[in-house]
Amino acid sequence: MANKDYYGVLGVPRDAPQDDIKKAYRKLARKYHPDVSSEPEAEERFKEINEAYEVLSDAEKRQMYDRFGTVSPNMGGFSDFRDPFDIFAEVFGNLGGFGFGQGRPSARRGRDLRTAVEITFAEAAFGTEKPIDVQRREVCDTCGGNGAEPGTQAERCTECGGTGQVRRVQQTFLGSFVNIMPCPTCNGSGTVIRTPCHTCHGSGIIRRNRRISLRIPAGVDDGLSIRLAGSGEPGERGGTPGDLYVNIQVRPHPYFKRRENDVMVELRINVAQATLGSVVKVPTLEGDHEVTIPPGTQPGSVLRLRGLGVPHLRGNGRGDQLVIVQVAIPTQVSDEQRNLFKSLAKSLGTESIVEEKQTFVDRIKEALGL
Ligand SMILES: [Zn+2]
Ligand SMILES: [Zn+2]
Repeated sequence: MANKDYYGVLGVPRDAPQDDIKKAYRKLARKYHPDVSSEPEAEERFKEINEAYEVLSDAEKRQMYDRFGTVSPNMGGFSDFRDPFDIFAEVFGNLGGFGFGQGRPSARRGRDLRTAVEITFAEAAFGTEKPIDVQRREVCDTCGGNGAEPGTQAERCTECGGTGQVRRVQQTFLGSFVNIMPCPTCNGSGTVIRTPCHTCHGSGIIRRNRRISLRIPAGVDDGLSIRLAGSGEPGERGGTPGDLYVNIQVRPHPYFKRRENDVMVELRINVAQATLGSVVKVPTLEGDHEVTIPPGTQPGSVLRLRGLGVPHLRGNGRGDQLVIVQVAIPTQVSDEQRNLFKSLAKSLGTESIVEEKQTFVDRIKEALGL
């Protein structure tokens, strides 16, 4: 390397302080910047100025230059202006895929998916296992997600050297600036697929209908959602997969109703059963149960069958079954029944009784302990 007069290039004395060197450099850089300068050989001059400043602005290099009249090449070349990013990258070069604002895109979690399943009243009460069909994006099995046809490999992108980033040097009147941007050839991935996988066409992801077996716990209620962690869509660039949420829809039952963990059923008995008492069969979640109706049971009475309700979703125990007794008044009677009612009417008299009674709602509230 030929000895160069860096002080001469910048037009400063050998003992010039750093501030003067900087000022001189700025002034000359503006004058000879190739984009704006009309001076002959502006580009050559501009390079010289940068080279001189590169050495004289660095205390260690300047000292070496002062002593030996040159600077050893292993201290860093002069032909490329060193941008702050380079220095930063040397210091923080082991951070991995994380860039500085414009670096490689980082791992992203997969999307959550939502679906619904309809189950019966009894399935909600006792739990069940249901197949759920989900359409979702999955990692391609043919290529394992790398997008390259089996037997071939994704190659390191030659434009960015596998870093996923390119630097664009921008010349301005203040000097060279370096912009870091995602590599346009590999879209920032650092790799290029020459032979794309025939299944996924190089994306590494395929859409697939997947049948998942969903275990529905005993005690679920209409409108509840079950989360299947990790059963959503796959993450990108090593991100975790999303979750699958299954909304439970319970088909209404012909005669059972549910109130939290209690099952309610309406039972219709006739006037004679209500008056004299009776033993009747009542449907429950566990089949028919014989229930004793005490004599003198009023319409709207509530009988509680303990432990015959819906199991608690979390924890032990079950709700109750509440039997709401309704007294059916016949609308059509046989001749025999008509005569019997006539006799009954005669026996009971025609007096009407007006009395403040608990309403039906009050009685249910009482039975529920509200
Ligand atoms: Zn594939
Ligand atoms: Zn690239």
